Amino acid sequence: MDLQLKDHVVIVTGGAKGIGEAIVRGLAREGAIPVILDKDKAAGEALSRQLAVGSFIALDLNDAAACQQAVEETVSRHGRINGVVNNAGYNDSIGLHSGNPEKFLRSMTNNVGHFYFMVYHAMAQLKATRGSIVNIGSKTSVTGQGSTSGYVAAKGAVLALTREWAVELLPWSVRVNAVIPAEVQTPLYDNWIASFPDPAAKLKTMTDRVPFEHRLTQPTEIADSVLFLLSARSSHTTGQWLFVDGGYTHLDRAIS
Ligand code: NAP
Repeated sequence: MDLQLKDHVVIVTGGAKGIGEAIVRGLAREGAIPVILDKDKAAGEALSRQLAVGSFIALDLNDAAACQQAVEETVSRHGRINGVVNNAGYNDSIGLHSGNPEKFLRSMTNNVGHFYFMVYHAMAQLKATRGSIVNIGSKTSVTGQGSTSGYVAAKGAVLALTREWAVELLPWSVRVNAVIPAEVQTPLYDNWIASFPDPAAKLKTMTDRVPFEHRLTQPTEIADSVLFLLSARSSHTTGQWLFVDGGYTHLDRAIS
């Protein structure tokens, strides 16, 4: 299937590593022009050098002015913006017992503030190109996880904003969708598994909970769905939440 993404300029937040990196690599493979926004300068520069297409912009996404500057820089370097993937996020475990009001608010800002900053500043470009927005959520916002109020509240807001922006941007044919992962094998995830006394046993506990093939989702499997939602192949799909999670959220795990 030709996704018709050739020469599309797409911003990917948190694009230097993990799921974002897989999205960036997928875009480059399709002939698109990925623009990586990330605070990991070394990883972003290395990826950008390797791909030899698009750009890397180092920034802290929590800085609204830096987000505006990144949008302006993208337009001045590449001439337009066809897509924004709001991907950066971090499960920071600010819960009822492990956090406090100040930490809760900071976690909310860190995990959803820049989704708004990016769309707010890129909106004029997206209207001009009839572009597409993809927001990365988390299954925790619909299942709960415990001990992570800030992250879960922010990811719930991400899903609500997906619907809200899909409505607000209808007049300009800008589509807005969300992809919702559960357990994805990123370097961060590998490090987390490695932090347990018996990593193999912990990994087995986690994969046993995934109904489809009892395995972790690969970042490329998230990326492929994101590319589809960015592309003209999903031209009448908007306001949707696509769970790419091996059935983790919805299938009856008691019988799988
Ligand atoms: P990751 O491996 O940690 O990669 C995220 C990248 O974003 C990192 O390079 C990180 O830099 C960067 N970043 C984070 N906050 C930033 C900020 N404020 N400014 C600039 N850069 C920032 O994460 P991932 O596992 O691929 O997760 C990507 C998305 O998927 C997140 O929204 C996450 O919540 C969601 N998700 C992941 C899983 C999973 O199992 N992996 C499951 C459900 C949902 P640093 O490394 O320097 O912080």
